[in-house]
Amino acid sequence: MARSVLVTGGNRGIGLAIARELAAAGDAVAVTYRSGEPPEGLFGVRCDVTSMADVEAAFDKVEAEHGPVEVLVSNAGITKDTLLAMMKEDTFTDVIDANLTGAYRVAKRAIRPMMKLKRGRVILISSVVGLSGQAGQTNYAASKAGLVGFARSMAREYGSRNITVNVVSPGFVATDMTAELDHEAIVSNIPLGRQAKPEEVARVVRFLASDDASYITGAVIPVDGGLGMGH
Ligand code: NDP
Repeated sequence: MARSVLVTGGNRGIGLAIARELAAAGDAVAVTYRSGEPPEGLFGVRCDVTSMADVEAAFDKVEAEHGPVEVLVSNAGITKDTLLAMMKEDTFTDVIDANLTGAYRVAKRAIRPMMKLKRGRVILISSVVGLSGQAGQTNYAASKAGLVGFARSMAREYGSRNITVNVVSPGFVATDMTAELDHEAIVSNIPLGRQAKPEEVARVVRFLASDDASYITGAVIPVDGGLGMGH
C-alpha cells in the first residue's frame, strides 16, 4: 500500500517539489496550503501551521483519505527580515511561531499514530542560515537553528519506535522566498556558483524518506552547493 505522506506548505516552492517527487515515487501525498488553491493532482488540506486546531483538522482529513501519516515533511516557513535594532517583538515571534512552533505542532500531532505504526519518517526543512547566521535574519536563523535541537531530541525520543527524524538544510533555492534577494552577491559565495532548483532539495527528502535511509536519524543534511561548509 502507498505510504501516507504529508508535506506542509506543499502548494508552491520547495514543498510542492517535494510533494511531486514523493508522489512520483508512489506515495499517497497530501499537502497543506494556507491560501489560494491546492496544487493539481495532489490531495490538499487547508491549514495554517500557527493554529493547532487547523493542524488537528488537517491531519484528521489526511488520515481519512490516506491513512495515518507515515512520512511528515515540515516545510512551511516564512521570513520577516530586518536588523535586530529595528525588529519589533512580533516580527521575531511570528517567524518563530510559523517556522519552529509550527514544526512542533505538526510533529506533535503526527507522533502518536507513528508510534502505533511502529515506523515513521519526520523530515524538517531548516536552512543554511540556521547554523551560519545571516544579517537581517535573527528571527529566521533562530527558528531554523531551533529545528536542529528539536529534531535531535525527537530522534532520541522515538528512535526505539523505528521513527527517524532528520533535518534538510537548503542553501539558496529558486522560489518566491528568494525572488527579491541580491542573487549576484549570494551566488558569488556559493562554491557551485548557482542557485538550487527546488527539485534538488526534493530528491534528498525522497532519499531520507526511503528505505535506503533506514539508519540515518538526527542528521542535518546540507543541500546548499557548499554555501554552509564548515558550519
Ligand atoms: P515559499 O515562500 O515559496 O513557500 C512557503 C510555503 O510555506 C508556502 O506554501 C506557504 O503557504 C507556506 N506557509 C508559510 N507560512 C505558513 C503557515 N503559517 N501555515 C501554513 N503554511 C505556511 O518558500 P520556499 O519554498 O522557498 O521555502 C520552503 C521552506 O524551505 C521554508 O521553510 C524555508 O524557510 C526553507 N528554505 C528555503 C530556502 C530558499 O532559498 N528558498 C533556503 C533554505 C530554506 P502559502 O502559499 O499559503 O503562503
